[in-house]
Amino acid sequence: MEIVENLIKISKIIPKNVLLVAVSKTKPIDSIESAYVYGQRDFGENKVQEMAEKYNSLPKDINWHMIGHLQRNKVKYIAPFVHLIHSVDSYRLLLEINKQGIKNKRIINVLVQIDISDDNTKFGFTYTEFNELIKLNKLKDLKNIKLKGMMGMASYSSNLSIIEQEFNELSNYFTEHKFNLKLDILSMGMSGDYKIAIKCNSNMIRLGSTIFGTRIK
Ligand SMILES: *Cc1c(COP(=O)(O)O)cnc(C)c1O
Repeated sequence: MEIVENLIKISKIIPKNVLLVAVSKTKPIDSIESAYVYGQRDFGENKVQEMAEKYNSLPKDINWHMIGHLQRNKVKYIAPFVHLIHSVDSYRLLLEINKQGIKNKRIINVLVQIDISDDNTKFGFTYTEFNELIKLNKLKDLKNIKLKGMMGMASYSSNLSIIEQEFNELSNYFTEHKFNLKLDILSMGMSGDYKIAIKCNSNMIRLGSTIFGTRIK
């Protein structure tokens, strides 16, 4: 099975402290099952409905990671089970996740997405916006949220030094804040740039096509 071969290959490349999130968006249940049987437990999806459907049909010890842009009115569909939301990009979204955490009697783990790229297509807080959030201590009342770390996506570029620079900048920013905010996750790196991300101290990578093959959409 090709998926398992790919997982074995990747496990030989990545350091032990780096968690692999297998990005299964658009891929069928049986592809996820193959990875699951091999031992993969962390899967990433970018659409709420697709994630909820897969959650319902697959074993309950899977850790589901929301990695795509999340609308506030859809948080309720994943709040009962989501393991980690990587893509928190506004204070209003944090408030909604906290509210759904209270409803579901859960503390929901989140990462803040920082907009580190030049592409206008990417979401996230700017460094300035997140600085402001911390300065105003706006997280302290959100008792049903646990801020675990930061996520970033580099520019879509063939210039590796630009990607490295963006990852390094986020890595330094993460290091600046990890002790006061008690953070431990730095989620950076996709199929095209995960090796660079790991060099820049990423400890969570999100790989789709490297594991499951290219996506059609
Ligand atoms: C799709 C996606 C990935 C995985 O992309 P690949 O290039 O297939 O590895 C990682 N992170 C996010 C946020 C994504 O949307």
